Amino acid sequence: SRWVYSFGGGGADGDASMKNLLGGKGANLAEMSSLGLPVPPGFTITTEACVHYYSNDKAYPEGLKEQVVAGLAKVEAITGKVFGDAANPLLVSVRSGARASMPGMMDTVLNLGLNDQTVEGLAKLAGDRRFAFDSYRRFIQMYSAVVLDLDHHMFEDILDEQKERLDVSVDTALSAEDWEKVVSAYKAAVERELGHPFPQDPQAQLWGAISAVFASWMNDRAKFYRRMHDIPESWGTAVNVQSMVFGNMGDSSATGVAFTRNPSTGEARLYGEFLINAQGEDVVAGIRTPQALTRAAREEMGEKSPSMEEALPDVFAEFKSVVEKLEQHYRDMQDIEFTVEKGRLYMLQTRNGKRTAKAALKVAVDLANEGLITKEEAVMRIEPGSLDQLLHPTIDPASPRDIITSGLPASPGAATGKVVFDADEAEKMAAAGEAVILVREETSPEDIHGMHAAKAILTARGGMTSHAAVVARGMGRPCVSGASELYIDDAAQTFRARNRTFKAGDIITIDGSKGEVLAGAVQMIEPELTGDFAALMVWADAIRRLKVRANAETATDAAAARQFGAEGIGLVRSEHMFFDAVRIAAVREMILADDRPGREQALAKMLVMQREDFVQLFSIMEGLPVTFRLLDPPLHEFLPHTAEDVEAVSKATGLDAAKLLARAKELHEVNPMLGHRGCRLGVAYPEIYEMQVRAILEAAIEVVQSGKAAPIPEIMHPLVSKGLEMKFLRELTDRVAQQVMAEKGVTIDYRVGTMVELPRAAIRADDLAQYAEFFSFGTNDLTQTTFGISRDDSGRFLGAYIDKGIFERDPFVTLDQEGVGDLIRIAVERGRKTRPDIKLGICGEHGGDPASIEFCEKIGLDYVSCSPFRVPIARLAAAQAAI
Ligand code: PEP
Ligand code: MG
Repeated sequence: SRWVYSFGGGGADGDASMKNLLGGKGANLAEMSSLGLPVPPGFTITTEACVHYYSNDKAYPEGLKEQVVAGLAKVEAITGKVFGDAANPLLVSVRSGARASMPGMMDTVLNLGLNDQTVEGLAKLAGDRRFAFDSYRRFIQMYSAVVLDLDHHMFEDILDEQKERLDVSVDTALSAEDWEKVVSAYKAAVERELGHPFPQDPQAQLWGAISAVFASWMNDRAKFYRRMHDIPESWGTAVNVQSMVFGNMGDSSATGVAFTRNPSTGEARLYGEFLINAQGEDVVAGIRTPQALTRAAREEMGEKSPSMEEALPDVFAEFKSVVEKLEQHYRDMQDIEFTVEKGRLYMLQTRNGKRTAKAALKVAVDLANEGLITKEEAVMRIEPGSLDQLLHPTIDPASPRDIITSGLPASPGAATGKVVFDADEAEKMAAAGEAVILVREETSPEDIHGMHAAKAILTARGGMTSHAAVVARGMGRPCVSGASELYIDDAAQTFRARNRTFKAGDIITIDGSKGEVLAGAVQMIEPELTGDFAALMVWADAIRRLKVRANAETATDAAAARQFGAEGIGLVRSEHMFFDAVRIAAVREMILADDRPGREQALAKMLVMQREDFVQLFSIMEGLPVTFRLLDPPLHEFLPHTAEDVEAVSKATGLDAAKLLARAKELHEVNPMLGHRGCRLGVAYPEIYEMQVRAILEAAIEVVQSGKAAPIPEIMHPLVSKGLEMKFLRELTDRVAQQVMAEKGVTIDYRVGTMVELPRAAIRADDLAQYAEFFSFGTNDLTQTTFGISRDDSGRFLGAYIDKGIFERDPFVTLDQEGVGDLIRIAVERGRKTRPDIKLGICGEHGGDPASIEFCEKIGLDYVSCSPFRVPIARLAAAQAAI
């Protein structure tokens, strides 16, 4: 079979559609090549070769060697150079390239093919001996670290010693002879460490690098990144072998990175950085300060060193047209790497650019408005979960700002937390529930777990495309990078800036939008839901079929839900209204009552409170449906348990302490989640549910009488499992409702339904539907009862299940479509058989999870209901599910 695909010379074997086989980088190099863009020729070893390598005890597939030789021959033919030839050497880069981009996670080797002979050839070809030996020492250094597994510090120490001896501080001060000495010292060090010399045979070098790239697919960083981004290990990586071009051949050479639009804000303007006379890693590594691409950007930043537009005007003009062509061709914002070798432009990479949620939104809306993509495509391009970032707070502009220092606005948003200097420590503290800010000199891929754990990131070094900036944007963490006044003392666990010292554990705030670091916590404000956000939501709403409601019981939550576009309340957990200090007294009085009259006296007090709350919710929802779930938790949850609590409650309420304690003991259950809760309370103590039904109807009538929009109450019974149980509850509900309506002489259009949160309820849904006008799937309890896994304690062991691959995801977050989903399918089918127009919704946490929402669309539910902040996410996910 075929393991190698060539590109270059105006054509290619592959194209952009072959990402699975060629990886993102390889597929796009092929595509650019076919478009006639200037791409250095090369070839891609497929991901299948990598998969084969791992499933066959790290053996190369048959035919690979021959195909690599043939691929190399093609590159030689196009470039007119020969791999390993002393007079006219071809040099190559060897890079990884998976299906999904994993920036910085895997390894790269540049300048491969150099040895003691070819370096002389390179010196002659380039007419620059100094450049040739600098390239050779870079190659030894990189190859030793990546392929030979030697510590890169060893090489840095050698270079530092050399510079000290020559009394110079910058690399550029080293002459050709100096670099030759460095090369000799490097080679001696390698031989000392390994017991054999640095490999001189270019073929051996090449295969060493190919193996190393395959191996890097399994390094810890790559594994962590894959876990975080749900990238399967089985994909493998491709390897790209490409002829080298040099951005470090003098002042008409350069290298840089560009985005066709701003990846932080989405602004439609070329954005990026470049360095004259430099090689690719120099830009990303943050060693030299990169220059702007355009004159306008340079002027805006108040920079002195010329932009690419000014320094290399002809190349820039060509570059600009290539970049525009790429965006038109791919119909998306591109992230581009390029090199200029002696005035000639080469494209090294293009891919759809990673961007902040804010930029993603603006780019998608702009591209649709520019006519480059459709509104459906715009809607499909936003990852629903990413909206979360936009719904997060920013710093209140009116709040005082105690600025410690400033740097680059590398990733927008703001966050407050405790200073921590170490990624492991950040992870530990975050796991203990602390908000932390990771403060580092600079970050490297080794730090990503700490960056993930942190609320925000601050670095002293590095530009807008530094590791910290790129990774923070991808994760949606606010980040200030390159805060150069920052002096970090790792040993003392402090940082200093502008004569102030902060220590680990001190509270600071990062404003990633402005690039500022502030002392202490700062007032935050909620984001505005206008502009691009509103535009995209309008498009999504026009596409989706599923309605979106919110779970809410307070006025604040209900108002937020409306603001986020909820079309009703899908779950009012009525018991939540009883947990405040004053109200709980009435509940306790009810629980302690010895008989029905005693309970009714307490219930009368509760009626007034509930009615008041319900009037408020109806008023805010203005005629949209509101689903009240009647009392659900076991009663003992309302009682104090320890002797001290009992004492305090008794003092505060005048209730008898001994009686309180006795009742709490009486109500104790071994297994309360399967105990006397849900509608079982309504069956045992009908007066409780009667009070709640009365409160709902009286509230609705009060709202109608005050001239407001007529409410649509939906009265929902929890934890029902049996038809006759539902019959009892239906009759209770209708009886009280009729009574209230007769008393007041007002008719209310109410509905009675049930939650489906027990397997038996799902299986006997046809029985339930005889009495229930709607079902709402309580997938929290349904997941708990289907698996028999406690929703409250599962955190302790679910991790082990996920690590071992038994669960792919936490079933309390993403619906288990096979098992729990099957029960839902059964309930939908059987419920509709009895009552074809039965209304169906979901109100468990899964109602706000995009993958679960897709399932809800597929099985034809009428609505999903989720927490207010997730409503926009659900609206977008519902639209995507409908496309
Ligand atoms: C459920 O069980 O899914 C539900 C929504 O109810 P609660 O979370 O209140 O038990
Ligand atoms: Mg429940």
